[in-house]
Amino acid sequence: MPVKIARACALSHIIEAKNRRLALNHGKFDHYPKTGAFDGATALGYISTMHEMALAQSLLSLAEEELLRCNRTRLVMARIEYGVLAGVMPEALRCCFEMLTRGTAHEQARLELVSLPLRLKCPLCGATFGGESREALVTPCPGCGELFGHIVEQGKEMILSRIEAA
Ligand SMILES: [Zn+2]
Repeated sequence: MPVKIARACALSHIIEAKNRRLALNHGKFDHYPKTGAFDGATALGYISTMHEMALAQSLLSLAEEELLRCNRTRLVMARIEYGVLAGVMPEALRCCFEMLTRGTAHEQARLELVSLPLRLKCPLCGATFGGESREALVTPCPGCGELFGHIVEQGKEMILSRIEAA
């Protein structure tokens, strides 16, 4: 029977993509700078930009810490929620995760990747609004029509929000 680890427990693991490092409760990881210039297909061709590989390694080590804490050994599912500005290429991340778990106890683990919508705030009138893609950054504010400088309240984060273990 799989153990479900409470969301609140894993929610403390927040990766701040903005700072290009993983700011975690358990210490800091530096990782390689984003390459940024790849589209998804190119990324798959390269299989792993160093960025996605570093992310996958960090996520796996976080998950392993949670497993250890709950006295479990096998990861069944990990859910990652990421903002559309986090610079994550989901398919590249998935490939890296599979590469890292191959031949380990976690080989069959499912990776759920959930994209979080943007939540923006207008710097002029304070209106908050959302968007599904980065184009929202240059969409007129619904309150006052301002085009630029929207403050990102949600969209740059990457969160290990849930894991299931056996
Ligand atoms: Zn406004």
